[in-house]
Amino acid sequence: MSALFSNYGRWNLELEKGTGSQVTDTQGKTYLDFTSGIGVCNLGHVHPAVTEAVTEQLNKLWHTSNLFQSSLQEKTAQLLTAPTHLSKVLFCNSGAEANEGAIKLARKYTAKTKIITCIQSFHGRTYGSMSATGQEKIKAGFGPMVAGFEHVPFNDSKALEEAADADTAAIMIEVVQGEGGINPATESYLNFVGKLCKEKGILLIIDEVQTGIGRTGKPFAFSHFGLKPDIVTAAKGLGNGFPVGAVISTEEVSSAFGPGSHGTTFGGNPLAMAAAGAVLREVFDPAFLEEVQKKGEYLKEELQSKLLNYDEVQEVKGIGLMIGIQCKGKVSDLITELQHNGILALSAGEHVLRLLPPLTMSYDELKTGIEEISKAIQKQTVTA
Ligand SMILES: *Cc1c(COP(=O)(O)O)cnc(C)c1O
Repeated sequence: MSALFSNYGRWNLELEKGTGSQVTDTQGKTYLDFTSGIGVCNLGHVHPAVTEAVTEQLNKLWHTSNLFQSSLQEKTAQLLTAPTHLSKVLFCNSGAEANEGAIKLARKYTAKTKIITCIQSFHGRTYGSMSATGQEKIKAGFGPMVAGFEHVPFNDSKALEEAADADTAAIMIEVVQGEGGINPATESYLNFVGKLCKEKGILLIIDEVQTGIGRTGKPFAFSHFGLKPDIVTAAKGLGNGFPVGAVISTEEVSSAFGPGSHGTTFGGNPLAMAAAGAVLREVFDPAFLEEVQKKGEYLKEELQSKLLNYDEVQEVKGIGLMIGIQCKGKVSDLITELQHNGILALSAGEHVLRLLPPLTMSYDELKTGIEEISKAIQKQTVTA
């Protein structure tokens, strides 16, 4: 009997070691990793620069409380905000915790309560972030939710306008819904959201936990558009596997959190800061990001040209190296078949095959993945 809670549906496979885009299981079989954890190891497994930075810090100092100055946090915050219009960072330990911080900050700054989020959104599993999440299956059995959240259909400007009232503190969105099925927001919708927030004095929170840190070929997904969010949250890719999250905001909005208002014991831990600093130095390099965009276009175009011929595949969508293959049937068998053939992939909901390869994956490796996915879908089509 397993000594663990059964809250995860785990595959019958254990990964033991990895390097770059490849991982090896306990049987010695090697896989090409199109999951990066779940969009976490953006620089690939055991990246030398991150390993070196963390190793150096491991031998220096592991932890100090946030009662002391931290030049490591300062430096990492500067790296994180440099490509944006934002200038303040609060470090924490996960995506849900970053969103909790963002929700609390928005309420405290505006002294208003209502937060509007989208149907099919995912913002985390804690009470605040779960209440923000627009998926009933995430909330089943856990009610009552935190009051004050309203969910509107995604990419629907009219619904958003109708929901936005005088008591609205913030609108919180993902630029590409990740867990909800790799659903990109349209440019016109994002423009509308930005304009509406400005007109009505509503804060714009963008959840970049999955889309941020280079995943879409820009520092953050909002950077593709002319958006000026007040608060941005990040986590998954920030530490390349070392747990770390961040609330990033304007100086003005950050001022609502004075001493004693909000905090976390582990947030901004020196080891996490060493990891995040090393990640940001690599990922926020414009040449690196341009390469991610090119690889993303290659991956999407190749998949479109190879897969859209199959009746089973309805759409290939996403931005950068965050790609969803919308299938007619459930993708769980497809994922197992791919594992059998040495490819690791994810789902996003039951019908979307989700690809989140390391941003460093080579063209040869991408090509192998595309061929294997194509073969697996063809096989499914034949046997269906
Ligand atoms: C994963 C995710 C979260 C939650 O992050 P955790 O670190 O698992 O708490 C929140 N928002 C989005 C968009 C995510 O993809």
